Amino acid sequence: MMNAPGVQGKRRVGVMGGTFDPIHHGHLVAASEVAHHFDLDEVVFVPTGRPYQKSGREVSAPEDRYLMTVIATASNPRFSVSRVDVDRPGPTFTIDTLRDISNIYGPEVELYFITGADALGAILGWQDADELFELAHFVGCTRPGHTLHDPGLPEGRVTLLEIPALAISSSECRQRVAQGEPIWYLVPDGIVQYINKRGLYHGEG
Ligand code: ATP
Ligand code: MG
Repeated sequence: MMNAPGVQGKRRVGVMGGTFDPIHHGHLVAASEVAHHFDLDEVVFVPTGRPYQKSGREVSAPEDRYLMTVIATASNPRFSVSRVDVDRPGPTFTIDTLRDISNIYGPEVELYFITGADALGAILGWQDADELFELAHFVGCTRPGHTLHDPGLPEGRVTLLEIPALAISSSECRQRVAQGEPIWYLVPDGIVQYINKRGLYHGEG
């Protein structure tokens, strides 16, 4: 696996988009792995506003997902959280996320958009891929149980990276909470406590 051709001296910033309902250790390991692989200076987690693709179920309030993301990343000095998607009305499109982050961080920064390889195909399939690639390098993380379909990814702007086998998903965490099963150690301790405190997911399923 080759490193992306980075312009020397530029700050490298990862942008980790997700619903984070709730954030779990799979997300954190993925961010940490990508940060290591690309020598990133920072990873910004960006919880979605109203996710466009997830129409099946009511997603938790943006403020709860934002706060959980802050709690889960608080101890890592290279992790931060952005409100750009949470504060923008309407469904979240990656192009808007990248434009906003790019405006905030300025031209002296190289952006790496980190997402699951599963989500990557969809994003590049239905949004203006050319403009996306002008704004960021794309990193698709593979995880167990998700085989890769090559959506005809353009050379040089996309890297697929294998993440250590962490078969954790937010859906499974929610389901476990709803069934009274523990989620200790699947998510950071503070997230277990926040979910209980706010009564999230308990009535689902
Ligand atoms: P859900 O089960 O509701 O789909 P999720 O666990 O996939 O949730 P998202 O917030 O949708 O969580 O994930 C944000 C991104 O992180 C997605 O692109 C997803 O593919 C990726 N991701 C989620 N879990 C893992 C994991 N265990 N390892 C690597 N990447 C992951
Ligand atoms: Mg998912």
